[in-house]
Amino acid sequence: MNPNFSRRTALFGGALALGAPLLNARVAIAQESETPKVALPSFYDRMVGDLRVTALVDGYFDLGRPLITNATAEQIDTGMAQAYLPPGDLIRLPISIHLVHGPDGITMIDAGSGSAFGPTAGRVAGALTAMGIDPASVTRIVLTHMHPDHIGGLLAADGAAAFTGASLHVHEADLKFWTDESIAASVPDDSKPFFGLARGVAAAYGGRLAPFSGAADLGGGLSTLEAFGHTPGHSAVRVSSGSDQLMILGDAVAIAAVQFAHPDAGIAFDADGAQAAVTRKAIFDMVSADKIAVAATHLPFPGVGHVEKKDGAYAWVPEHWQVM
Ligand SMILES: [Zn+2]
Repeated sequence: MNPNFSRRTALFGGALALGAPLLNARVAIAQESETPKVALPSFYDRMVGDLRVTALVDGYFDLGRPLITNATAEQIDTGMAQAYLPPGDLIRLPISIHLVHGPDGITMIDAGSGSAFGPTAGRVAGALTAMGIDPASVTRIVLTHMHPDHIGGLLAADGAAAFTGASLHVHEADLKFWTDESIAASVPDDSKPFFGLARGVAAAYGGRLAPFSGAADLGGGLSTLEAFGHTPGHSAVRVSSGSDQLMILGDAVAIAAVQFAHPDAGIAFDADGAQAAVTRKAIFDMVSADKIAVAATHLPFPGVGHVEKKDGAYAWVPEHWQVM
């Protein structure tokens, strides 16, 4: 963990002091979604060696521009224009999760939003049903971090575990932070639900919680990589089979239109924005040098591709759809 990390920095210098903008962003979602569109389940299958990996859409949210940190208005405008995004105050970001179909069953990387993130997200359960996957057949869930759009889907409507046969793997620093009652008691009221949801998840999964630390080998071709900054224990997940790899980056990068060209730019939900930027650049350097394919939760779906070094920064190269 970054030795400079402190609760005060995390809580009052980072995302959680910005509960009001979060609420504003969500108001924008609600207003735009008075007549929610019905979306068919959307997923993308690709192979990583012998392992089938499925990216699955949980839904989306509209990120308010004020929540982009450490970037100028011009940098954001230019990035949006170059991505042919409509100009305005909102950038629509998908939420995706990943399934790894291994010989020992299905491992899920993150769980989507459930009911925690408004009416535009929470489609994972329906998509699993459409794919013929019984939630009870998911044997493992690995979390990149414990934000609501990644853990809300772990709980059924009654607060019980939605995945009754799965072990739940999360970095011990994230689990410790988000379930700490004294930290929760010290944050503004509109940030308390983040902690309440994490505590609910920890209670629901109880003895099936499996905290990890460092670069953990989880078996079945999955290992983790500490990628701190966005949250205190944020981790990437490496899927390996033979000589093939896919790095699932969680929220180490989230805003494709801005953060490749300007990797110092962050998001107001970063617990430690400076650390998150160092992490982002280190990961970009690694995956670009080694030509490792990456995926991330909020990149334009299916959010799988490569990172290239370009003009002293980076560029995103979406992969050609691997038709199967
Ligand atoms: Zn996220």
